[in-house]
Amino acid sequence: MSKETNEGITVKKSEDFSEWYSQVVQKAELADIRYGVQGFIVHSPWGFRILRKIYEMLEHEVELDNHEPFLFPLVIKKENLDKEEEHAGFAPEVFWITKSGSKKMEEEVALRPTGETQIYPMYSLWIRSYNDLPYKGYQSRICTYRSEKTTRPFLRGREFMFFETHDVFSTHKEALTQVEKDIKISEDVIRKQCKIPFLLFKRPSWDKFKGASNTFTPDTLMPDGKRNQLASTHDLGQNFAKAFDINFQDKDGKKKQPFQTCYGPGIWRIMAALIGIHGDDNGLILPFDLAPKQVVVVPIFKDKDKKSVLNYCNELKESLNFSCIVDDSEATPGFKYNNWEMKGVPIRIEVGPKEVSSKTVTVVLRTNRNKIQTKLKDVNSEIKKQADILDKEIENKSKTYFKDNTHDAKDLDELKRIMKSYRGFVRVPFCSVDKDGEACADKLKEQTDGVNVCGTLYPKEEKASGNCIVCNKKAKHIVYTAKSY
Ligand SMILES: [Zn+2]
Repeated sequence: MSKETNEGITVKKSEDFSEWYSQVVQKAELADIRYGVQGFIVHSPWGFRILRKIYEMLEHEVELDNHEPFLFPLVIKKENLDKEEEHAGFAPEVFWITKSGSKKMEEEVALRPTGETQIYPMYSLWIRSYNDLPYKGYQSRICTYRSEKTTRPFLRGREFMFFETHDVFSTHKEALTQVEKDIKISEDVIRKQCKIPFLLFKRPSWDKFKGASNTFTPDTLMPDGKRNQLASTHDLGQNFAKAFDINFQDKDGKKKQPFQTCYGPGIWRIMAALIGIHGDDNGLILPFDLAPKQVVVVPIFKDKDKKSVLNYCNELKESLNFSCIVDDSEATPGFKYNNWEMKGVPIRIEVGPKEVSSKTVTVVLRTNRNKIQTKLKDVNSEIKKQADILDKEIENKSKTYFKDNTHDAKDLDELKRIMKSYRGFVRVPFCSVDKDGEACADKLKEQTDGVNVCGTLYPKEEKASGNCIVCNKKAKHIVYTAKSY
């Protein structure tokens, strides 16, 4: 995209979120959807830098928790995929490589739809005794492939970026402790650092990862009121150890099957939430630590001042403790302001002849756009101060938005009425989150044009009262419902 044709967003976020989202993805140069293969996008430099920041945070956290990095191939042999098939049910979405050159492959291989079927056969070779446990490994900056019907950048793709941990323990107790640690990583990275609010759910039994004993997910709401699942943590029990023949010799000399967990923060989904929840009508807004450039310096000059202003800008850049770009392109200052606001650069510094002669700078914050004059020697502390204001603003705004978007319904009519005017989480009484509640969940979905049961709050489930919103039997749970991506 030529910079000079990069006009602002032509719709308001509150009026047409879907169009607003598409325009931000394109105009902030996060992704290019013109690659020409459906469901496959180019991660553009600005967007890829933000994704890398999220990856760095996750890598840091899991390595603090003693995970070792590894990198598995992109392809999986059929036999291994089949072993999971009875559990996972990915079959309709799997891409197969069937030819090499013009020759038919002797053995077809699949593009990985998830990590378990490639990693666990190797675990069955690596894990021998209790001395090998716990075993904690992770893969980062990889892709996953699923033949999805509808696709949307950072929400659903046929190729999407992935991060996964896969852990093995000798006892179920240790596995459950790991689940809590994984949840804490979501709290630290997604809630604290990315400032994305979420509710943590225990999924109902019919909606957990197939083959998992329990699935826990932090879910947020996009501005159109749809649920966005940001990560998942699975307690796999011994199900996969059985399917992939993972065994260890315990201290007592007996051969035993270990317990497993896996954790997959959705890199793409976190990115979609950053865009959708924090952004405004001028484009992206990023928490200070996630911005690929934290400060942009815009020189403002007539020809006679050009040299002195640019020199001053470059000296300023050298003196900053933050990542900074001096935009000395030919475009007008007004164009530059819009362009960097679109990309969500937290702080702009304007420098003209007046600033040069008075040894000052003008600092402008992305969110409130207040202009603050500050002495050159104080610029680092002023930026820090403004960065804190920005982060607080983002956090408060997203918390308020999230709080205002949970409602209650006592019966199906009320739920339907709420979902007509509004989407978001609706709390309802429900009969069961085990197998026998599935029929009610199906009926609910059918009668409400696709509302799903997200699950019960975790770790503290709310006390149930009233009757199931669908079958009218005494409710055992309060569940959250929402439309989903
Ligand atoms: Zn029911």
